Amino acid sequence: MPFSDSSTSPPREAASAGARSPLTLTWLTALWIGVLGNWPLWQRMWGMPDYAGASGKVFVVVFAGIVVMVLAAVFSLLAWRVAVKPLLTVMLLLTAPLAYFIGSYGVIIDSTMITNALQTDVRETRDLLGWSLLVHVLVIAVLPLVWIWRQRLTELRWYKRLGWNAASVAMALALGVGLAATRTADLASTLRNNKALTKMVSPINAIWASASLVAQKHKKPKGPLEVVAADAVLTPRPAGSRPPLVLLVVGETARSENFQLNGYDKPTNPELSKRPVLSYREVASCGTSTAASLPCMFSQLGREVYVDHPGNQQTLMDVLQRAGLAVLWLDNQSGCKGICDRVPNAQAINPARADHPIPAGLCRADGECLDEVMLHDLDARIAALDPQRVARGVVLVLHQMGSHGPAYYLRTPDDRKPFQPECRSNALQQCPLEQVRNAYDNTIAYTDHVLAKAIDWLGTQQTRFDPSLLYVSDHGESLGENNLFLHGMPYALAPKQQKHVPLILWLPEQTRATQQLDGECLAKRRDTPMSHDGLYHTVLSLSGVQTSVYRKDWDWVGACRKG
Ligand SMILES: [Zn+2]
Repeated sequence: MPFSDSSTSPPREAASAGARSPLTLTWLTALWIGVLGNWPLWQRMWGMPDYAGASGKVFVVVFAGIVVMVLAAVFSLLAWRVAVKPLLTVMLLLTAPLAYFIGSYGVIIDSTMITNALQTDVRETRDLLGWSLLVHVLVIAVLPLVWIWRQRLTELRWYKRLGWNAASVAMALALGVGLAATRTADLASTLRNNKALTKMVSPINAIWASASLVAQKHKKPKGPLEVVAADAVLTPRPAGSRPPLVLLVVGETARSENFQLNGYDKPTNPELSKRPVLSYREVASCGTSTAASLPCMFSQLGREVYVDHPGNQQTLMDVLQRAGLAVLWLDNQSGCKGICDRVPNAQAINPARADHPIPAGLCRADGECLDEVMLHDLDARIAALDPQRVARGVVLVLHQMGSHGPAYYLRTPDDRKPFQPECRSNALQQCPLEQVRNAYDNTIAYTDHVLAKAIDWLGTQQTRFDPSLLYVSDHGESLGENNLFLHGMPYALAPKQQKHVPLILWLPEQTRATQQLDGECLAKRRDTPMSHDGLYHTVLSLSGVQTSVYRKDWDWVGACRKG
């Protein structure tokens, strides 16, 4: 009795009528995902000058064929009667949202992007969801799944199944190689010049990125926390000077070129323009995402070393605290990514203080607050810190929500939206580009207001402290240039809009005198190339901390310090 798997099953002929081989399902799913689930890739390639003309278009079709064959080969490995449906379900449910995000925002799916996704909180995720995503899931995933789960599958002994699956893998690979052979030159130049395109092949990109992330995690055991700058001490203050009060505002997703102070043609800095601030225009970020930039900014290592060997080291916050200063990290975003774990820190709206209620209109019902919430009650927050430390000096870090996208319009209050009309959707591609830019510029104008208010507050502290303000964003943003949106591109491929960040300093006369800083020299460095590497060392010097780790050549103000 050939093919008889079980004596209780109905006669073979009856069971097989209308039943399909698992391989039919895998090949059809490969075709579906390859062609439809990867529509953003085909759309992108179709429009690229590299693939212009009939020959270019033919190559795009050939490339699509290769992708389908690769998927067919991978899926054929999974074509077992029991496993095939659940596994194809996972593949389809993975592909649909990827198609949506890649198609809508031009994002690249790599391990950095996966890290970002995992570190994003629910509030931020909600910004990204919408009807368009639902449509993608319904069409790309649910529709074929309804068909797949209605199919009856043929039964076959395991060794026969194995034989068929192996044959299927071999055939898919042979066809893929055959297709590749027809256009080897084009394929090689695509892999060399347009490597980012290969990271758009769903769902292989996400699976590959997750796997490499796991591999990275296993490769680098975290180990114990390494002490940095163990020799850090406070420099004795000049007679008659006051303790330093350094206010460091860590911006979010603000890009340099949209600052009026840096030459932007829209009035995005109406308030800072009226204050004596220094704005530096050639500042490079460490990474293109919060997860990549933030820990790097608070490390003494600098980008070049940090990206490959971040280690598990103490941060700037640890060193400031060990030197004896009062430090506080206030967060209005998804947290400090481990930087502030060992020093006083608080979510801006916590702990709720009954005697100092949050002013009306600053926080929404869903818990998200406007950045001004961090400025409210700063006097009380300093008063709550250790008075002995406060007497030596204070470093306050405010971590902004800033220009976090794609729902830029949610980051500004209704009465602070000078640029109209603004895009009021999180599906950026559904708004005219001009409206997306307006919504984004409104966030820059709002940050301008927050920084101006912070400077005004620091002004009230001048009898007690020598205050200074540093503002720098963690990374930039793409706003439709080359059809890219948001951020998080691999650094080498990222456009300058994602890597050029604003850096604004406010150092009043009184502070410059104590710090022996030459104002004219500081102003002259407007277009001197600088980078996130300087943050650590600048905060050390402005807060009067002395350590062998300090690098004057990286300090943003080091070159202008007399003596
Ligand atoms: Zn960020």
